[in-house]
Amino acid sequence: MGDVKRVGVVGAGAVGVTAAAALAADGHDVTLFERDAVGAGSTGRAAGICYDAFADRLDAAVAARALERFRDLAAETRFSVTDRPYVWLAREGDEKRERAIRKQVPRMRDNDRDVTLLDPDALAAEFPGLETDDVAVAAVARDALCADPAEYAAVVAERASAAGATLRTGTEVAVDATPAGTESARGDSGPGATVVTPAGRERFDAVLVAAGAHTKPVLADAGVAIQVKPYRVQALVTAPSSAAETTPTLYDATRGFYCRAKAGGFLVGDGTEERAADPDDWDRTADEDFRSDALARLDAALSADGPTDVTDSWAGLCTATPDRDPLVGAVAPGLFVAVGWHGHGFMRAPALGERVADEIAGEREKESDDVLRAFDPARFDGDEEFAVVEGMTVE
Ligand SMILES: Cc1cc2nc3c(=O)[nH]c(=O)nc-3n(C[C@H](O)[C@H](O)[C@H](O)COP(=O)(O)OP(=O)(O)OC[C@H]3O[C@@H](n4cnc5c(N)ncnc54)[C@H](O)[C@@H]3O)c2cc1C
Repeated sequence: MGDVKRVGVVGAGAVGVTAAAALAADGHDVTLFERDAVGAGSTGRAAGICYDAFADRLDAAVAARALERFRDLAAETRFSVTDRPYVWLAREGDEKRERAIRKQVPRMRDNDRDVTLLDPDALAAEFPGLETDDVAVAAVARDALCADPAEYAAVVAERASAAGATLRTGTEVAVDATPAGTESARGDSGPGATVVTPAGRERFDAVLVAAGAHTKPVLADAGVAIQVKPYRVQALVTAPSSAAETTPTLYDATRGFYCRAKAGGFLVGDGTEERAADPDDWDRTADEDFRSDALARLDAALSADGPTDVTDSWAGLCTATPDRDPLVGAVAPGLFVAVGWHGHGFMRAPALGERVADEIAGEREKESDDVLRAFDPARFDGDEEFAVVEGMTVE
């Protein structure tokens, strides 16, 4: 390890806690600021579906690393994972998505992912709980799991504390990136950035902003523009159903929804609103239309009758970027960001949280690291026009 750094992390979601724990374990002096409670943001609202079915080489490598880290954590702590294959499919008449699935599976296999194309008969034989009559093509990723994102955040935050990090929940902060020694830095000294808390100003060698849907306004106050837009998605949990335990995690690309087994029933999600949401003013409850559509789509996807009762439902925010890749890395000297997950932030948090921690610690150079180069926030000017598009798509 090089010099010990003082690092401030803003946001105790899956990404912030991962980075904080990695830096603290490496001997750095870490303070993690969270305006609410650990996992109270999007992480606590996520479905917890994790897979490695990516056609892009870097995405596949990130996903493989993340799955490995989830399993390591489950072996070492009370965090638990459930291995469950991830199936995605296109239905008859949806030629565009059928073609896309047929094309992407060989690329995933080239990335050494355990992914197989299944025709409807093979799908029915392996997963009898699914209705396969009008399926054109399906694929299965066998290296996939489900986990509880809130439990992940809690366990990793405990690890960060045990490694010496200071955890300050209930502390909403702002960031001042003005270089030390300039007039507006108000006497701050040393390189890095300043975290402004209700109690005063604290100077750090480096500050990571992993504030989820609030990342853009936090950085905007610091004079840094990033290209990210929050958007609203929805999920529900059904009453227990005997079909749930024998059904794989499913993404029905034609009907645009996903489901996984949860609490004896199904967690069903999507309900994406393809427009920017205000992170301080959005509806946290699921729409009635979403609930009835989701139940109908689930029912149609199952070979037996689907459950009809909903035990819980909610909305949450995801974050979009112009090219659907995240923004991970430095945005100014001593100031770092990790955001823009398009609904895939939990499954990538163990890998990308550690990656940005390595960059902050100086253990990885952006210039020589494929992942950090690909996700460099500087690839955008900050003023490009872009539309919000759903994260889970097949095209
Ligand atoms: C319904 C739903 C289902 C999803 N399903 C999946 C899934 O199955 N798999 C998957 O990979 N992803 C899924 N996602 C996406 C996933 O939730 C996110 O990508 C991931 O949780 C992002 O983690 P994060 O740490 O970046 O952000 P967050 O979890 O949002 O954490 C940011 C934290 O920063 C805090 N904060 C904000 N501003 C400040 C401030 N000024 N000062 C201090 N703290 C601040 C917030 O309170 C929050 O706790 C889903 C999302 C939703 C809404």
